[in-house]
Amino acid sequence: MLIDSHAHLLNEELNSPQLIRDMKKDGLEKIITIGTDAKNSQASVLLAKNNKDIYAIVGLYPEYADDITEEDLKTIERLAAEDKVIGIGEIGLDYHVFQNNKEKQIKLFKDQLEIAVKYDLPVCIHTRSAVQDTYEILKEYAPRLKNKGVMHCFSENREYAQKFIELGFYISFSGNITFKKSDRSFLKELPLDKILVETDSPHLSPEPYRGQVNFPANVRLTAQKIADELEMDFESFCNQTVENTYRVYKKMKRD
Ligand SMILES: [Zn+2]
Repeated sequence: MLIDSHAHLLNEELNSPQLIRDMKKDGLEKIITIGTDAKNSQASVLLAKNNKDIYAIVGLYPEYADDITEEDLKTIERLAAEDKVIGIGEIGLDYHVFQNNKEKQIKLFKDQLEIAVKYDLPVCIHTRSAVQDTYEILKEYAPRLKNKGVMHCFSENREYAQKFIELGFYISFSGNITFKKSDRSFLKELPLDKILVETDSPHLSPEPYRGQVNFPANVRLTAQKIADELEMDFESFCNQTVENTYRVYKKMKRD
């Protein structure tokens, strides 16, 4: 069994009731659904409350930094106290598409790191074309973040993988690690107890479905690719990632 540690189940491209019904058949023990704004964070919590094996992570995505209100942050803080909310995310910095609001992105990121500190929750980090700033901010907050967190959809180099691990963070791989041109050469250098797998559904389908709508069940293709690279038995690798996911997201219950 596997855990999809990062999916956007409320995305309109996915049929979440069907996906949740098929979870066991698809070899999925749990799915963690991720919020990106106040509204879908609230809806994620509701989905988690209504489905035992779904957990929620709530947060405000850097893309929305220009439009965030105090009310949005209050909503995230209120949701953070819910039983089925296991982390704050996805939060971080994205300078790939948005370069003109760096200050606002950094403020939004820090405001939400404060919520994570206050509620002892791990964070789920999005970083794109912004790894140095992301690293500096997480380094500043790491001593106060009791459960640290996860570098979601990791696509930086081996040096940064080591640096985030040294800060106490976990590294989560999505479908893009299966792509032909992805650098997988450093996977063997990572501590096995720091690796998570995810789909980021409906985005980033692994090979051979690259470019199509992604589903949580596809997490096994990513896990298989990494297990092959590590020359590890598939099932042992899956079990290891499941253990890691429960270790970082401590509020998630096994049954
Ligand atoms: Zn995501």
